Amino acid sequence: MFDNERIALAEAGRELMNRKLSVGTWGNISLRVEKDKCIITPSGMNYQKLKPDDMVLIDLEGQVIDGKWKPSSEKTLHAEIYKNRADVRAIIHYHPIFSSILSVVRYNIPALIEDSVMLLGGEIKVTDYVFPGGAELAKEAVRGLGNNNAVILANHGAVCVGKDLEKTFAACEVLEKSAQIFIFAKLFGQVNLLPEDDIRKLQALTADYLKLWEQK
Ligand SMILES: [Zn+2]
Repeated sequence: MFDNERIALAEAGRELMNRKLSVGTWGNISLRVEKDKCIITPSGMNYQKLKPDDMVLIDLEGQVIDGKWKPSSEKTLHAEIYKNRADVRAIIHYHPIFSSILSVVRYNIPALIEDSVMLLGGEIKVTDYVFPGGAELAKEAVRGLGNNNAVILANHGAVCVGKDLEKTFAACEVLEKSAQIFIFAKLFGQVNLLPEDDIRKLQALTADYLKLWEQK
């Protein structure tokens, strides 16, 4: 069941490692396959070796429907986001370096750059700190995410969401790029924000831009 989705998840896991967006077995990826079901990467497995049939089908209460392994320890985080955001069909939780630096100093990323505003939303929030793997983290992540497509988890990592895996993956790269730009800009000194009016203009262009992307 859901063969294509399982293959896509396995490929996304390898990409996450190949592009150095996460290391080891940390990070997890899911794809919503029905309104209240998703497939998710298994707990603690090497992404380079993940096979399509290693993925676990769960419901949004975190119960396993089908799978030979334990689902990711962050299954509640994924399930809560799906419950609260009907528009989301793919979620990537990862531990990239520059976003993780901001997760430690706890600076939100302001609206600085065009692609970030269009793909991620407005200011990207850092959540309050909570221990990984539980319902508290899931609640904090949902709160910090709001209507954006990215959130940074304090002293932990980040979560990106999107309409499909491709856009969610792009969001992961744009978030990490934005974090890097923000950190280096701060080191130089003055950080100049985009004008408020232009942020709204860019966000209004996003839907049309994404439609073009889907047609390609
Ligand atoms: Zn994590």
